[in-house]
Amino acid sequence: MSESLAALAARVVAVRQRVAEACTRAGRDPAEVTLVAVTKTLPAATVRAAYAVGLRDFGENYAQELRDKALQLADLAELRWHFIGPLQRNKAQHVVGTAALIHTVASTALIERLAALAAQRGTAQGVLLQLNLSGEGTKSGARAEELPALLAALGAHPQQLHGIGLMTMPPQSADPQQTAPIFAALRQLRDTFADHWAADPAAAAARLGALSMGMSADYAVAIAEGATLVRVGSAIFGQRAP
Ligand SMILES: *Cc1c(COP(=O)(O)O)cnc(C)c1O
Repeated sequence: MSESLAALAARVVAVRQRVAEACTRAGRDPAEVTLVAVTKTLPAATVRAAYAVGLRDFGENYAQELRDKALQLADLAELRWHFIGPLQRNKAQHVVGTAALIHTVASTALIERLAALAAQRGTAQGVLLQLNLSGEGTKSGARAEELPALLAALGAHPQQLHGIGLMTMPPQSADPQQTAPIFAALRQLRDTFADHWAADPAAAAARLGALSMGMSADYAVAIAEGATLVRVGSAIFGQRAP
């Protein structure tokens, strides 16, 4: 193993260890938590190396970058892509059917576009609804009040769109503990709406279980609050070039 591959493997082991410890403290099974390695701006060769040391789930922020890397890495049979960046309707064709899960769906207009693309391709697209729970204007995501309308829009396309959960991205803060209340609020919304939808069998396609929350600085906090998908970049790959 080359020196850099060994170093990468060691950082993956360290992150997995912290994930496992956070699960133990929270009384959760580590199998409930998927580690999504965030590879935006990194070359396809780095994704290939990360796959070689055992990672399978990768997060990308830019539609064309996802499309290009997916083509270059099409031979990695177990690789699952996650789209985690803001998605414009006119870029969605690069993402539907390529990403196993789109984490950043926050408008009915985007839902309609994704449903149309999924229908064209004869695929069912997994999606998460992104919420902005901090009330900060600059962060993307829908407000909690919009959730019923988004769920109704998803529910209208049960063959095309599988809404499996919620995502949030709190503002960066110096103290990761400050994000805990935002993560807890996302979990509470999930619980409220999961019950609501479970009562309606026709809405099975929009059953909300997954919670995508937590990044390098705060994934342990997010796991304590119920995260099932953590999106970790710099803790695995080092600081990105600005
Ligand atoms: C870049 C990014 C991450 C990973 O950030 P790190 O701090 O490097 O772990 C996670 N989620 C989203 C939405 C991102 O854009």
